Amino acid sequence: MPRLYSAPEHRALYSGLIPLHVLYHASKEPIFGLEMIEELRRHGYRLSPGRMYPLLHGMERKGLLKSAETTAGRNRRRVYRATPAGRAALSVAKERVQELFSELFEDVISAAAKGASRRRRG
Ligand SMILES: [Zn+2]
Repeated sequence: MPRLYSAPEHRALYSGLIPLHVLYHASKEPIFGLEMIEELRRHGYRLSPGRMYPLLHGMERKGLLKSAETTAGRNRRRVYRATPAGRAALSVAKERVQELFSELFEDVISAAAKGASRRRRG
């Protein structure tokens, strides 16, 4: 597990990354709250159910996700999938993340590119 837990006062810096992460997974397969809490924990985000469920409800209210109740044996759970609007929002967000990524990692990327062209020239 990555040691990425940040100081609470820096939480706002990452708050947008969490719904993006949720949207990404919901575009791949149906997701549910506890599973997403685990998934985000794996990536270094610690979310309580008290934050995850309102987030999912809010994303559904905004039309990004659509939920359905499912039953597996005696367990009932609410699963969420990305809507077409959610997928569209995700693809715009991916471009923005890519843009930010290239800026944040400008040095790394140009060093790697230089290395690659040196190797090509032999
Ligand atoms: Zn993930």
